[in-house]
Amino acid sequence: MLYRKMKSGDEISILGYGAMRLPQLKSGEIDEIRAEKHIRYAISKGVNYIDTAKIYHGGKCEEFLGRLLEKDGLRNKVKIATKLPPWQVKEPKDMMRIFNEQLKDLRTDHIDYYLVHALNGASWKKMKEFGVLELLDKLLKSGKIKNAGFSFHGNIEHFYQIVDDYDWTFCQIQFNYLDRQYQAGLKGLKYAAEKGLSVIVMEPLRGGRLAQNPPEDVIKLYGNSGFERSPAEWALRWVWNFPEIVTVLSGMSTYGQVRENVKIASMTEPDSMSKKELQVIDKATAVYKKLSKIGCTGCMYCLPCPVNVSIPSCFEYYNGFHLYKDDKFKNYYRNFLGDKAKASLCVSCGQCVEKCPQELPIPELLKKVVKDFEQ
Ligand code: SF4
Ligand code: SF4
Repeated sequence: MLYRKMKSGDEISILGYGAMRLPQLKSGEIDEIRAEKHIRYAISKGVNYIDTAKIYHGGKCEEFLGRLLEKDGLRNKVKIATKLPPWQVKEPKDMMRIFNEQLKDLRTDHIDYYLVHALNGASWKKMKEFGVLELLDKLLKSGKIKNAGFSFHGNIEHFYQIVDDYDWTFCQIQFNYLDRQYQAGLKGLKYAAEKGLSVIVMEPLRGGRLAQNPPEDVIKLYGNSGFERSPAEWALRWVWNFPEIVTVLSGMSTYGQVRENVKIASMTEPDSMSKKELQVIDKATAVYKKLSKIGCTGCMYCLPCPVNVSIPSCFEYYNGFHLYKDDKFKNYYRNFLGDKAKASLCVSCGQCVEKCPQELPIPELLKKVVKDFEQ
């Protein structure tokens, strides 16, 4: 495992364990046996940063991690990062209540890296008015959090503002080769680093889409590149190539993914990609941009929908259908979603739109799904 230094002085593994996509049972609950095996393996190989959030796995993730990390001294081997969800904060006192719940669920007396979650311009304004900066000061002073940061899903102007508004240790941005100009993007990465913030990257594989079943043209491109690498390795290497990035969070759902990512993280130095390698990535980017219809990452923040539309699945099948030009995605849509979760149930209430970090016009996009899959 390779390590890079945080502003705090901590040496952090370049692969962080993103706990948003732990393996699940058919019921949707965390498959605790498999998740424990994966996390224990990652820690045994040197992963020392675990990222969770109040909302992950329907609010059960912190509690699961708390129970797991209590065993065998695991807590002392990792830094825990978790997040304060602005959308659950209805009045200032909610912030401290949520924080105390998180400490209790995680069975710890401090959080190593505490983030204000998924900020954009509006949520930042609200949280400042509610006194989040004073709260962070207080938590830092008392030692209940060791470092303060934020994760971000807004536009670049708001990103600059948030970076400048506080003496953050770190920020967490969505960054991958398809999202260089999206949200904070490359400009935000450089800006944060210039201001002395450590940068953590989420969605390096764009919700797994850069790793699983790439389109035929991308497979050919990688196959003819002269390098023997999986699509995941190409995508992760591209992110780790930036020296400004300390760690990359990968939401790993299978043991194979954990093992592969751990392996790649043991051999990827900053500034190590050649011009030729970077050109391969640029060409893959062009192919994806041409084929992708909807920029959904599958994060599920938009759920639950009041009429039960399975929004991420609708978009996943729709993108799959257009990327691979394969009717099987229509069948998946009909067989797996049936009449209870299909796109045409949408009543355009707009609740999901407010919650989508990608700012997707979800009701409009669902109409496209209806047109291709239901008519
Ligand atoms: S806009 Fe449609 S998909 Fe979104 S929450 Fe409302 S009903 Fe559900
Ligand atoms: S529609 Fe938006 S919130 Fe919902 S899964 Fe996709 S990216 Fe996430």
